[in-house]
Amino acid sequence: LFITIEGGEGAGKTTLISRLSERIYKETKRRTRSTREPGGVPIAESIRKVILDTKNTKMEAKTEALLYAAARRQHLVEIVMPALSKGDIIICDRFVDSSLAYQGYARGLGIDKVWEINRFATEDCMPHLTLYLDLDPELGLSRIEANAHREVNRLDLESLSFHMKVREGYLEVMKRFPDRIRMLDASGNPEEIADQAWEHVSGSLSG
Ligand code: C5P
Ligand code: MG
Repeated sequence: LFITIEGGEGAGKTTLISRLSERIYKETKRRTRSTREPGGVPIAESIRKVILDTKNTKMEAKTEALLYAAARRQHLVEIVMPALSKGDIIICDRFVDSSLAYQGYARGLGIDKVWEINRFATEDCMPHLTLYLDLDPELGLSRIEANAHREVNRLDLESLSFHMKVREGYLEVMKRFPDRIRMLDASGNPEEIADQAWEHVSGSLSG
């Protein structure tokens, strides 16, 4: 089973993934493999560094979209595909929908164009279930500012209006994949969010 977690800055993806893995183990005794994008394997982590480096202010939108797709390809081949062929449960922090919302919609490349290069990268290997954590970007940004451990990245130089576009982008992407993507209200407490997530995951686990 391939599950992806999506959302803007400070939506709580990382927290949800650890709670959800615990919950899956408690209920089913099955272990999950958690991973993240861009990154998860050395080649993709190197690409991540290039994408997020605050010095790379000249990075053009299509370059950025291609780098995300390249990192995705490597991670998919090294981690996701082998896990799926063994029948594992894999939970990935971000996947194609991030590219559609950030590069396709917020950067203005177009959701269709970005979807095209991602079909090349993924060969249509898509998640069975995607949980989108919906949150007011103002709240999300204030959460990450309060987190002293978080490393600064190039996206932190973007304005609030960019992050508002990302949210609009996710809502557009949801319209395209209504059967796959489930929206969760990320403004609540982590426990409530994990409970909502489990409702959806248990449905997918039972087929
Ligand atoms: O998931 P995480 O927050 O670690 O992502 C790192 C950064 O990359 C974030 O600032 C996120 O906004 C950005 N990002 C992006 N486009 C994507 C995926 C992530 O701009 N397709
Ligand atoms: Mg995170």
